[in-house]
Amino acid sequence: MEKEKKAINQLLDIDNFFSGGFAVKGEGISQELESSEDEAEKKISSVHAETTETENELSKSEQLEKIAEEVKVCTKCTLSQTRTFAVPGEGNPDARIVFVGEGPGGDEDKSGRPFVGRAGQLLTKIINAMRLTREDVFICNVIKCRPPNNRDPLASEKDACRDYLYRQLAVIEPDIIVALGSHAAKELLDTDTAIGKLRGRFHDFTIKGGTETIKFMPTYHPAYLLRNYSTENRKKVWDDMKMVMQEIGIKS
Ligand code: URA
Ligand code: SF4
Repeated sequence: MEKEKKAINQLLDIDNFFSGGFAVKGEGISQELESSEDEAEKKISSVHAETTETENELSKSEQLEKIAEEVKVCTKCTLSQTRTFAVPGEGNPDARIVFVGEGPGGDEDKSGRPFVGRAGQLLTKIINAMRLTREDVFICNVIKCRPPNNRDPLASEKDACRDYLYRQLAVIEPDIIVALGSHAAKELLDTDTAIGKLRGRFHDFTIKGGTETIKFMPTYHPAYLLRNYSTENRKKVWDDMKMVMQEIGIKS
């Protein structure tokens, strides 16, 4: 019953997303809406990677919880003095896709949760249109505390905060990282190239000290999309997400 409810809600979300004007005519997955609920459910569960816990180690979720606890009381930079709540991130410890944004805005600062404001609602729609839920993926930011007046994070703040994001990625070991906007893309790819030039193709990402290559897809930030809500920009983001879906094995 729960499963059915989840599948139905997801189809409603997808419908809502497309009727919300994101879909581009002739593109997307609207034809697929008839696919059975069971099928939708199968696709959802297949996006989780295998868990690799051993009894003596902390589980992935315990390790992520430990990082989150550190973040919540962190004073490594002065943003700790102005934040309401630090925003460590949230989602599935076994997620195959991690979405990385820039940093908390006002709504996130007030709630301690990532991407819950207007841009967050658009991100949720995008995730749902990918036939996924927020609980299937992991969502976090480059910087864990809100910069005053939503200014860009300083280099020194990114330096102070970097370790948390890298540790989260090392625990989750996703197959794909989606960088939302230029800050996340530039931070993780260590480049100055503009997001418009980086998006549209996978880059290789290796966690520092690691050997595994993770596929890395930069795309426009949902807040940028809200400010520039053109068919062209929506199509670009959707094209990027379709590449992610294909890589993960979700039919688009
Ligand atoms: N913008 C971001 O980059 N991150 C959030 O969590 C919310 C808005
Ligand atoms: Fe710590 Fe990062 Fe918050 Fe700075 S932004 S106080 S480094 S968690």
